[in-house]
Amino acid sequence: MGVWLEGRALAEKIKQEVKEEVEHFREKTNQVPGLIGILVGENKSSQIYLRSKEKASQGLGIASQILTLPANTEARALKARIAELNQQEDVDGILVQLPLPGHLKAHDIICAISPEKDVDGFHPFNLGSLLANEEGLKPCTPMGIIELLRYNRVPLEGKEVVVIGRSLIVGKPLAAMMTNENATVTICHSRTKDLAAVAARADILVAAMGKPAFVKPEFVKESAVVIDVGINQLADAARVRDLFGEDEKREKDLAEKGYTVVGDVDPRAVERAAAMTPVPGGVGLLTVAMLMKNTLEAFKRRRRFEP
Ligand code: NAD
Repeated sequence: MGVWLEGRALAEKIKQEVKEEVEHFREKTNQVPGLIGILVGENKSSQIYLRSKEKASQGLGIASQILTLPANTEARALKARIAELNQQEDVDGILVQLPLPGHLKAHDIICAISPEKDVDGFHPFNLGSLLANEEGLKPCTPMGIIELLRYNRVPLEGKEVVVIGRSLIVGKPLAAMMTNENATVTICHSRTKDLAAVAARADILVAAMGKPAFVKPEFVKESAVVIDVGINQLADAARVRDLFGEDEKREKDLAEKGYTVVGDVDPRAVERAAAMTPVPGGVGLLTVAMLMKNTLEAFKRRRRFEP
């Protein structure tokens, strides 16, 4: 039976460090980092995600604001607004909450953000710097995964890492980070043949596919470390009971919200693994902490502050 790799303690530690540094700069320079989150339209989940980022940053002394634009905003108008924010001296971080309404192309919009303010790390300049193993702002979720492994002293050098999922947000940048850490990396995706056999080679298996409990215990090598990135709403009560048994919290979720949040990995895989991240309570908590760290980083670089 493996252990659960909880994200909370590390997320709190990172946020505390950011808070202390923000306070230090505020006392020394009377300036604090500024973060703008852009929301186009009224996607409920996006509203919740952005509000939680705003709340977290305000709690650390970061000046944070949400800019809400109507769902029918044209690409030209959105990019013009971003161009203004690029010029605004007190704004260090700009993030555009994804997904965008169908008529807007995420790549096109993200390219409008100044790379030095791209705290999500999605701009091609920053992704290219990551591939080149050079300095730059890095995507938050993959960075959180690397930090969590480091914090728990899981070595990466020479290890077989299998990443399931090839998105630009998680899978691809994580594979680049793992390669930079000298791991041997395989990326799997929806067209991969015999996923179970490839996954079972992994010393470190990462699931980032968005498919509830898709990764079964038999996909997991004995004593592997499993990172579950998935955040999925599962409403099927019978399936929830099959996965979690008698679980008071899950039952309460089902009764109150009509769903419970589950990862991409069958939770019973923890019995074969050496360690596994829970959902919720694992990697998800680190994503926001890393965004805070990136915002502070962007602030220091832009305003040329030394600690
Ligand atoms: P995405 O939809 O952009 O990409 C999913 C990837 O999974 C694709 O590359 C696809 O090829 C692969 N995939 C889908 N079905 C597959 C299958 N049957 N076999 C093999 N590969 C398959 O998703 P994303 O944005 O990368 O997010 C993935 C999951 O991670 C989602 O559940 C999302 O909610 C979650 N997520 C969590 C955090 C966090 O903070 N913890 C951050 C981002 C995303």
